Amino acid sequence: MKKNFVVIGLGRFGSSIVRTLVESGHEVLAIDSNEDRVNEYMNIATHAVVANAQDEAVLKSLGIRNFDAVVVAIGEDLQASILVTLMVKEMNVKNVWVKALDDYHARVLEKIGADRVVHPERDMGVRIAHSLTANNLVDYFEISKDFSMAEIKVYNKKFINRTLQELSFPKKYNVQISAIKKTSGEVELATADSIIHEKDSILVVGRTEDVEYLDEILYRT
Ligand code: ATP
Repeated sequence: MKKNFVVIGLGRFGSSIVRTLVESGHEVLAIDSNEDRVNEYMNIATHAVVANAQDEAVLKSLGIRNFDAVVVAIGEDLQASILVTLMVKEMNVKNVWVKALDDYHARVLEKIGADRVVHPERDMGVRIAHSLTANNLVDYFEISKDFSMAEIKVYNKKFINRTLQELSFPKKYNVQISAIKKTSGEVELATADSIIHEKDSILVVGRTEDVEYLDEILYRT
């Protein structure tokens, strides 16, 4: 379903959100106080406006309250990021996502009602570190402090040409398998009858230590 989004701040983070939302068929109003950045996005975003988002009258005149979600992607200017988030929440926007610079900034944003606070650099660092240190982990992300989801390639022959029912991952390894990905890129949602073939990857959800343990097991030949 087509949705309407506002992205405030067209740095690398905000602009990649704009591009991806538009490519997925959504409507995006992009706002930045820098005219050159807005000009770059004139033909990409549905609407692109040069404006200081700290000006409440401007936000109201743009009808911010009517959008499905607002992303506050203002970089270094902490005061602007906090003030804009506060104003947007006061306009009753249901879904406000904000980029935080550090944990102190994140705490303030949570206190003033940001629905989701993201730390793109930190989160990407964690993800890359896990992929670097793991044996055969293709991709990884943290679901919470204790839980992760990972795509793991299966090398261990004991797991090949067997059904998920036979392998009983939840019982033996305390993880759930949600899908199997073929080398062709095709993805099959996991059922008890799904079979793991050579070079397939599996999508695993579980406690981080269990996911890491399974990563080691699946690497053995
Ligand atoms: P990255 O490029 O990695 O995303 P960043 O988030 O630090 O880094 P910046 O380059 O600082 O990104 O981009 C933030 C954008 O937000 C800039 O284009 C800046 O002009 C814009 N911005 C800052 N304050 C305001 C404001 N009050 N109203 C509108 N836009 C703003």
